[in-house]
Amino acid sequence: MISLKSVHKYFGTYHALRNINLDVEEGQKIVVCGPSGSGKSTMIRCVNGLEQHDEGDITVNGHMMTTDEKTGNLIRQEVGMVFQSFNLFPHMKVIENLMMAQRMVRKKTKAEARDTGMKLLERVGISAQADKFPGQLSGGQQQRVAIARALCMNPKVMLFDEPTSALDPEMISEVLEVMTELAREGMTMICVTHEMGFARSVADRIVFMDEGEIVEAGEPETFFANPEHNRTRKFLDQII
Ligand code: ATP
Ligand code: MG
Repeated sequence: MISLKSVHKYFGTYHALRNINLDVEEGQKIVVCGPSGSGKSTMIRCVNGLEQHDEGDITVNGHMMTTDEKTGNLIRQEVGMVFQSFNLFPHMKVIENLMMAQRMVRKKTKAEARDTGMKLLERVGISAQADKFPGQLSGGQQQRVAIARALCMNPKVMLFDEPTSALDPEMISEVLEVMTELAREGMTMICVTHEMGFARSVADRIVFMDEGEIVEAGEPETFFANPEHNRTRKFLDQII
């Protein structure tokens, strides 16, 4: 479903991704962790073409990522992304946030887009907030809107970049619950997160990055009980 082969990325002379190799099968859930600046965001941003990689191959659902805008757009239509900072349109009501891309990209009618939007708001438990503006919602509610908005495009893959790290502790679980449910329904997911409880219960594989490299990857049980590398151990000691 997703494959990165010998991927490198530079920001000027800075080598941000070093020989990244990762294969994600359909339905798999990958959790990516690692210290700040290790390249986690850069890696997943390359997967949906928000950043362009410099060397190697990235394939998403059979499409090879190229610099050609058409391919980038095609891939972005199949890949949903949720950011730390929600990125909702503040001047649009919640339901309008959900309708916009469906209307513009999928060319759905207003009624169809609203219907899909309402169903997804229900699914993330906030249909009562449909006619509010994002600023009137709690952080946890806003993040659930962001997830619903991504799901409106019927993505084949969901990417999450630290979706709970801007949230107050009491709101983290409501977002993790939605993500866990999505995982249970079989969505293919790559989640950058330091929520190790979530990783333990949901991930098929945990990937640890440091200094632009994948240092170690393994199933949760072995990853936590028996990390191979010192750098992984140090990191886990700090966050658990
Ligand atoms: P965090 O946990 O803080 O989110 P991260 O693992 O997501 O960190 P990245 O955001 O991928 O790290 O950044 C990796 C490195 O690339 C960092 O050193 C960062 O400063 C650098 N970097 C990221 N984006 C850019 C950019 N647009 N221009 C220049 N350097 C960048
Ligand atoms: Mg990041």
